[in-house]
Amino acid sequence: MVEFHIAVLPGDGIGPEVIVPSLDVLAAACMAVGGFKLHFTTLEAGALVYRDRGVAIAEETVEAAEAADAILLGAMGLPEVRYPDGREVAPQVDLRERWSLFAGVRPVRPIPGSPLPLADARAAGVDFVLVREQTEGLFAARGKTEQTEDEARDVQVITRAACERLFDFCFKLAEQRKTKGYAGTLTCVDKANVLGSMVFFRRIFDERAKLFPGVAARHRYVDAMALDLIKHPWSFDVMVTENMYGDILSDLAAGLMGGLGMAPSGDIGHERAVFQPCHGSAPDIAGKGKANPTATILSAAMMLDWLAERHNEPKAGQVARLITGAVDRAYAGGDLKPCEFGGTAGTLEVTRRVLENLQAAA
Ligand code: ATP
Repeated sequence: MVEFHIAVLPGDGIGPEVIVPSLDVLAAACMAVGGFKLHFTTLEAGALVYRDRGVAIAEETVEAAEAADAILLGAMGLPEVRYPDGREVAPQVDLRERWSLFAGVRPVRPIPGSPLPLADARAAGVDFVLVREQTEGLFAARGKTEQTEDEARDVQVITRAACERLFDFCFKLAEQRKTKGYAGTLTCVDKANVLGSMVFFRRIFDERAKLFPGVAARHRYVDAMALDLIKHPWSFDVMVTENMYGDILSDLAAGLMGGLGMAPSGDIGHERAVFQPCHGSAPDIAGKGKANPTATILSAAMMLDWLAERHNEPKAGQVARLITGAVDRAYAGGDLKPCEFGGTAGTLEVTRRVLENLQAAA
């Protein structure tokens, strides 16, 4: 029996609502494949924990998560729970820095049959990966704002070490995708026409590009990329960008899939990884049964792919494929319309359809 330990951090708002169905899908998929078991340990962290105990994530919780093989997270943060300086409580962002989860990997692949916002038929063929740097950039200023009565400064930090590990990861990803028939291009998204820190970012990208001659290295300014992602998103393969630009572009990219409830992600480091949907805690729909669990279910499948590669364990990859296949089949008929698309399918209905297709395939 192949076994892995998963730390589960449901978090706030719709976090627990999308985590519960994802665990059900994971358990059912493991059972269907057989000889493969996941042990889940649920841990408490987030804005409510901060409100009640004064810390967003306790040290023993961090240690328990570190002991696991991988971490699955729902969503954290609530608009009304803030640190004294006015920022939202976001321990998931702190964990990215603490565990050096430098690559925020966001695959953008609309699911055939799901309603898409772009009318062009080519939009259904969009299939790219956005990688967001997650340990520095403008986010490095969090909690360090230099402020007087008349001025506030947030300093952007770009270091050579963080850039090199990020770009190497992305070039390898593009190389890997090329073996699967993708274009083998990596686009560096920056603002090198305005900011010195971004000139530095791009220079290191160009240096690392020389080490990966099989990948076509390209550049785009972030503003131009926002336009390109609406006009011809199907022409991209892998793109890499700074933390804040990635935060913004990944919501835009989620829109290409129909909404945040469809967009999975993985925060990847050399030692650890956290998998979570791209969305936040969505307090506007929390408790209403309307949260779309698809993004979290797909993030759980990404977690299995990561475990499969890291531990050379093909069964984990098999479970991942079973889950993504079930999600694809659930939407394929075009009649599954989650609430976020203006449809009537709430959390339970989306989950039921995925489980149904999982059982049919097993
Ligand atoms: P954060 O900054 O924490 O990432 P956010 O400000 O991007 O959060 P979200 O909490 O992601 O905000 O919500 C943005 C919008 O998307 C809200 O209207 C929310 O209801 C909707 N939304 C987010 N996730 C889902 C989901 N899984 N299902 C349905 N709607 C969602």
